Amino acid sequence: MSASSHPEASPVVDVAIIGAGFSGLCMGIRLQRDTSLSFVIFEKADDVGGTWRENRYPGCACDVQSHLYSLSFEPNPRWSRMFAPQAEIWEYLRRCTDKHDLRRRIRFGTRVDRCELDEANRLWILTSSTGERFRARVLVAGVGALHVPAYPTLPGRDRFLGKSFHSAEWDESYPLEGKRVAVIGTGASAIQFVPQIAPIVQHLALFQRTPPWIIPKPDRAITKAEQWLFERVPSLQRAARAAIYWQLESRVLAFVKYPRLMKLAALVAKHHIERQIADPELARKVTPAYEIGCKRILISDDYYPALCRPNVDVMTAPIREIDERGVVTNDGVHHDVDAILYGTGFDVQHPIPRGAIIGRGGRDLIDAWPEGPEAYLGITVSGFPNLFFLLGPNTALGHSSVIYMIESQVAYVMDALRTMRDGGLSEVDVKPEVQRRFNDDLKRRHAGAIWSSGCRSWYLNEHGRNTTLWPGATFRYRALTRSFDVESYHTR
Ligand code: NAP
Repeated sequence: MSASSHPEASPVVDVAIIGAGFSGLCMGIRLQRDTSLSFVIFEKADDVGGTWRENRYPGCACDVQSHLYSLSFEPNPRWSRMFAPQAEIWEYLRRCTDKHDLRRRIRFGTRVDRCELDEANRLWILTSSTGERFRARVLVAGVGALHVPAYPTLPGRDRFLGKSFHSAEWDESYPLEGKRVAVIGTGASAIQFVPQIAPIVQHLALFQRTPPWIIPKPDRAITKAEQWLFERVPSLQRAARAAIYWQLESRVLAFVKYPRLMKLAALVAKHHIERQIADPELARKVTPAYEIGCKRILISDDYYPALCRPNVDVMTAPIREIDERGVVTNDGVHHDVDAILYGTGFDVQHPIPRGAIIGRGGRDLIDAWPEGPEAYLGITVSGFPNLFFLLGPNTALGHSSVIYMIESQVAYVMDALRTMRDGGLSEVDVKPEVQRRFNDDLKRRHAGAIWSSGCRSWYLNEHGRNTTLWPGATFRYRALTRSFDVESYHTR
């Protein structure tokens, strides 16, 4: 493949990548380093970083150890903590971008609104929000799953006259000091920012619909001596990474195969509550009544102590409505507040809107997904040739680092590009029966997993189907994606 020009639109590039987060950058680095293909990365924002650029709420940090939550070929010996804070991860991604001289390949401030297959010319036509058009032979979507903030559909939400924002759209210019604040939601984001804001606000009313299971966070500073060693003896850092990988991987047995093992984790979590909360009423409120692991297990050492503060109250009565002055609960209590902060997560089930991706026969991707997102290996969708998803359906994880999954997928796409070049192929389209078989198998393996044990979570869609998680060992996923299985594809 090579770049060529066309009188009506911009030149055709070999690969168009959407998104400059971990996925898009990893793809870009590999293309830059290992091929001579032409490519462009489209990024709606004015900087790289994806989720780590967007989520800037106080206390935001990774909940997977940084030595694993980073690119294998770009180790960072200088991580300051076991679980690095957001600013450090963002900085890491910027450094990787500059090191590989990728910025010149990125079109910042360009939101791709529509990607349409031009069947006759075997090209993807991309249209940006400003109406510009671009053409590519291969499209790689690295848009991430957790990027559309979900606001609750509570009556009266628009009537509130105070300040309100979502954790992923944190307003740094709004001073929370001395304010009466309501926080709605107690998920992974909220448990990170609540301990940060509790000491500075006048009062914090935390509205909890379902308590999360929380276990201790094995965090600590990484000493200068360790950093020095990692820098000088890279094999030591690789060994540390491998140790973390296998420690996290061992948990998959409990999640998928032997859910009864999760009882041990529940004991640890209950003991965590006992140790950190003296008030039996508060302890009762925060103790979950569903199986541990059914929702994402959270890690924190400072969340429960924050709830014990005299200026923090945990509300468990359901929210009836929001009005001009604050939050009204079903028990008729009116909670007057200056600000409402939404820690209510992301619209994981609809990461791609209708009209955004149009495949063969003018079919909208949304219509190809009547029961929710699905793909072959989470990467390719039948009827959408030459389109590859990174962190697509069923490739998020409940137990380990998604960066490992991204690298597996990028390796698969790289091999697909090689196969296309060597075989003179202009099109690869996964066979529908291959996609169906793969997803039938996924369904079967999800059936016995802990997250199918009956709780509500973003793992499941409205049909009760798990469209988000990979139900097994990540090394198995890596084995499946090690090389491009061209026989699973219709080719031209
Ligand atoms: P989340 O885990 O989906 O939590 C959303 C919270 O909002 C839940 O407590 C939910 O309650 C509550 N909620 C939603 N709608 C509500 C409503 N109408 N009324 C009351 N409460 C409502 O979202 P998140 O905390 O933003 O985290 C999302 C994901 O992002 C995480 O699971 C994780 O994968 C990722 N994340 C990762 C990190 C990291 O450190 N790597 C940090 C933050 C986030 P219910 O439980 O009752 O639904």
